[in-house]
Amino acid sequence: METTTSKAYGSEAEGTPLHEMEIKRRELLPTDVEMEVLYCGICHSDLHQIKNDFGGTMFPIVPGHEILGRVTRVGAQVTSFKVGELAGVGCIVDSCGHCESCEEDLEMFCEKGVTFSFNSPDRHLGGATFGGFSKSYVCDQRYMLHMPNFENLGAAAPLLCAGITVYSPLKHWNAGPGKKVGILGIGGLGHMAIKIAKAMGAEVTVFTTSPSKVEDAKRLGADYAVLSSNSEEMSKYTAQLHFIIDTVSAKHDVNSYLNLLKHDGTVVLVGLPPEPLEVGAFNIIMGRKSFAGSNIGGIAETQEMLNFCYEHNITADSEIIAMQEVNEAFERLEIGDVKYRFVIDMASL
Ligand code: NAP
Ligand code: ZN
Repeated sequence: METTTSKAYGSEAEGTPLHEMEIKRRELLPTDVEMEVLYCGICHSDLHQIKNDFGGTMFPIVPGHEILGRVTRVGAQVTSFKVGELAGVGCIVDSCGHCESCEEDLEMFCEKGVTFSFNSPDRHLGGATFGGFSKSYVCDQRYMLHMPNFENLGAAAPLLCAGITVYSPLKHWNAGPGKKVGILGIGGLGHMAIKIAKAMGAEVTVFTTSPSKVEDAKRLGADYAVLSSNSEEMSKYTAQLHFIIDTVSAKHDVNSYLNLLKHDGTVVLVGLPPEPLEVGAFNIIMGRKSFAGSNIGGIAETQEMLNFCYEHNITADSEIIAMQEVNEAFERLEIGDVKYRFVIDMASL
């Protein structure tokens, strides 16, 4: 099939730095939309994948799945986007469209296999899909989002993964007035969860391993913030919370958080620690508790989340960087040295 080329930043092998490279994008199919990428957020999932933490990384890899841009070209049959309009691409760029999951707008659970925006088998060009650390992105109009006109556009890019990944479980488990929500880990996802859960009307308590984030959590909107190493403070929350979102990216003890749930409460894991987590039988049978998981959110819900965040004036606390600073940014993300999301200004590429 016909292709075009795009400048990008990627890595050739596990643990090797990202550098400038040229990649192919498919020439527009009738329902495809092309965007010039303006900003791309850096998610911990990008870091997991370049380190091959899960063992499935296809090299060379071009990460990036919080992709915000402006439409540059549209295919002949595109009806929902116009050249010049703002647009976004998150994690999902293809799915079968017909299975039960797709029919329920849960494309991320497509029974035939979802195509992610990077490091996923590319159905058109072969090899792997290349993400948003690049000048352009092409996908079908069904997977492209309409970006509201956020005042600080760069800070809105992280909504496309971090935002929807916490919005979806908060909504599914009915966060709202009268609900006590816990948030575990204040990183890219966690800080979005604070803002979104508060906007939904829930009471928010955060648990952090970082002393410097305790005060900052209140600035972000949390009602209470607890340093998780302080066992006396932790014990005050035993059986107090309805629901906890666990955003931690490394192995940790979930049992101490199951203990903080009221009966019938749920801890929802969205973080992706590469090693299995252990759940003690008594930590869930006592109180009929659940340990659940959640993965991003479907396209319709992502659009709903973007509109919700625009209405409530919610964006990420972002540190805007140049493409050339990406390797340093990954090093800092690894040690938790970011408040709270790196976003690449793609004009620098
Ligand atoms: P991040 O910015 O690095 O935040 C992770 C936070 O977890 C850190 O800021 C830290 O918070 C806490 N943490 C890190 N290591 C820890 C440890 N050893 N013990 C306890 N707490 C620790 O990462 P992110 O971008 O928010 O992503 C978080 C995780 O979600 C990653 O694993 C990512 O791959 C995954 N993810 C999943 C989905 C999905 O759909 N399910 C979508 C996007 C990302 P404190 O300093 O506050 O303790
Ligand atoms: Zn992500």
